[in-house]
Amino acid sequence: MSEEQKRPDTAFETAEVQTTGDGQSGPAATHADAPPAEEKEELKRVLLIAAHPDDPEFGCGGTMAKWAAAGKEITYVLLTSGDKGSRDPNLRPGQLATQREEEQRAAKATGVQDVIFLRHPDGLLDNTLELRRQLVHLIRRHKPHIVVAIDPWKHYQLHPDHRAAGQAALDAVWAAREWHIFGEQLHGDEEPWRTKEVYLFWTDNADYWEDVSDAIGTRVEALICHASQVGTDREKLDKRIRERSAKVGEEAGYPYAESFKLIKF
Ligand SMILES: [Zn+2]
Repeated sequence: MSEEQKRPDTAFETAEVQTTGDGQSGPAATHADAPPAEEKEELKRVLLIAAHPDDPEFGCGGTMAKWAAAGKEITYVLLTSGDKGSRDPNLRPGQLATQREEEQRAAKATGVQDVIFLRHPDGLLDNTLELRRQLVHLIRRHKPHIVVAIDPWKHYQLHPDHRAAGQAALDAVWAAREWHIFGEQLHGDEEPWRTKEVYLFWTDNADYWEDVSDAIGTRVEALICHASQVGTDREKLDKRIRERSAKVGEEAGYPYAESFKLIKF
């Protein structure tokens, strides 16, 4: 792997010596080319957008734990509360949603600061203009330097929520930068916002690997919080996660890793 692919680790190092600049762009900077002055900006705020409780932990829980420990401010946005994620006919979707939100809040013990639930219906998520509007609003409010999302272009990705969540997140990252899209949101401190980097997990086209060897235990701790989905057999879960992460790690020469498609703006 090249040094270039390891750049976010370098970003952690520069974060300690640089002061924060939010990099607000004026009207002339609403298109794709980032001004050179912003290149060394600290990439501190992270917004992870996913479909269901447990997506963050299954997708990239080790990376989130590592980044949180390194001082990044991480917020999760979950588009549904996973209310259909049970085959128990006696469990009502509303009950399950409450349980899964509690599980997700417990799982943020990895160091994640906040979890926001948009409560769209599980299994029926659609990348509508209304969903995009909500996400653009959150991006303009939280001003993330990094957005983490599901890769919507993964081949044979059957879960419609995963496709829709990834597409909506990317569409919102793009729209949030533009002055004349959802312009009614632009008042107070809500201004067009340019996200600097997007990391897509569950991808077929990985070009960035995060070494999560020191965070693998924390990832399992977070995953076991999702008892409605993973059961209570910690040993079995630990084995499964370590095997999977070791396989990804082989691609990059790390004991355990998580992989992403990285898009820089
Ligand atoms: Zn999911």
